[in-house]
Amino acid sequence: MATRAIDRVGIGTDIHRLEPGGQLRLCGIEIKHDMHLLGHSDGDVALHAVADALLGAAGLPDIGEQYPDTDPRNAGMDSRHLLTSVVEKISAAGFAVASLDLVIHAERPKLSGHKESMRDCVAKLLAIPQSHVGIKAKTNEGLDAVGRGEAIACTCVVGLALLVDSN
Ligand code: MG
Repeated sequence: MATRAIDRVGIGTDIHRLEPGGQLRLCGIEIKHDMHLLGHSDGDVALHAVADALLGAAGLPDIGEQYPDTDPRNAGMDSRHLLTSVVEKISAAGFAVASLDLVIHAERPKLSGHKESMRDCVAKLLAIPQSHVGIKAKTNEGLDAVGRGEAIACTCVVGLALLVDSN
């Protein structure tokens, strides 16, 4: 796929609390850890930040408005499905995803060994080449809730290209 020119840029951030036990999911993959992210959905803080960045770039309402945590239909939702649904909305609004850069702020677990799997999963969900997806993992140097290992936060920037109707 040729690189697309970027017409719009969006940013998304999210933070979820860590609780003992359960299954940790980040970027759509399961990661072995002794804690999981609390959330009305599966708590995948990374995919939520990606979804909000996409919606913001397209000028659409954020995931809090579109998938409220007061709606029982969203309870335990697989965030991969949420992101697939967002990508459909972006496409319907006339945009294609050009590129994405994601920063995961986590004191634990170590994520370096998972970055390629996470990159692969995000690229597939967005239907873009893996080379257009950047994933960085950073600790918070022991500072604040993330640094104390009480939460994981994510920051995501995306670029969207306008789909030009050839007719
Ligand atoms: Mg969230």
